[in-house]
Amino acid sequence: MENFNMDRRKFIESATFASLGLLLSQQSAFAQESPVNIIKKAAATAKINITKLRGSLSALEGSGGNILVSTGKDGKLMVDGGIGVSKPNMSGALAKLGEAPLKVLINTHWHFDHVDGNLWLHEKGAAIVAHENTLKNMSRTIRVDDWNYTFPPSPKGALPGKTFQDKYSMIFNGEDIHMLHYPPAHTNSDISVYFPREDVLHVADTWWNGHYPFIDYNTGGNIEGMIQATDRNLKSSSDKTIIIPGHGPIGTRKQLIEYRDMLSSIYDAVKKLKLQGKSMEEVVLAKPTSKFDSKFGTFIIDPAFFTRLVYKGA
Ligand SMILES: [Zn+2]
Repeated sequence: MENFNMDRRKFIESATFASLGLLLSQQSAFAQESPVNIIKKAAATAKINITKLRGSLSALEGSGGNILVSTGKDGKLMVDGGIGVSKPNMSGALAKLGEAPLKVLINTHWHFDHVDGNLWLHEKGAAIVAHENTLKNMSRTIRVDDWNYTFPPSPKGALPGKTFQDKYSMIFNGEDIHMLHYPPAHTNSDISVYFPREDVLHVADTWWNGHYPFIDYNTGGNIEGMIQATDRNLKSSSDKTIIIPGHGPIGTRKQLIEYRDMLSSIYDAVKKLKLQGKSMEEVVLAKPTSKFDSKFGTFIIDPAFFTRLVYKGA
């Protein structure tokens, strides 16, 4: 213990102010391993929970981001494909939804916990549809600093074969499914996917229901974009709409309003402190999220982590 303290003091004394600040912020943000590894490990053994929604639609939860499946005469269409290591459990869950073959996989954005299953699902027969930035981001090496992780380019078979810029729609199982790109919010590749017959809206990772969300500044994400995306989600839904968040339980518009209030309230508080000249770590110490922490701060993105994400864009 004494040695540890002596080493630590020596190290701190020799560190410059700037590198110390960086070290401390990294120590607190990454005291544990990268969330990427935590999520992947969890997915390997996770049970896939099936929830029948309306009509032909079911939700699959347990492997990375929330998944939607449409089943019918044209086959199966999935919105997001979870993590690759979940293949055995995911195959079982898909089989429980009937024998219709998998035909289409829509990716809501480029993050691994939504596209990692692309390769095996494509091999199983799915044509992959996504925003053009999903293809671009998956095709190159990307460092996501706040996850402390560098993603290599994805294999060719995992890449979307059909991409679009602003919006795209396709008729599948008798309904016109609408995909619409968000201006940069969680990433630069986020899309919503709307099923009008069932009034079910998947809003990608613009919404983490009941949790502070991750914001990926390395690929264009920013807190203002997250608030604007949430406003769009509120405009695009009614009290009857079933809203599928990227993470967290299947949601309602009422919960989305609470999330919107949380985002804007924390953003305003952090911006005010930043304008006063406070450093990132001073703002973390001021606990601008405190009144929301018991409700939103218990998942992957803890209060300090979320404060730093908001500070970056404030
Ligand atoms: Zn994401």
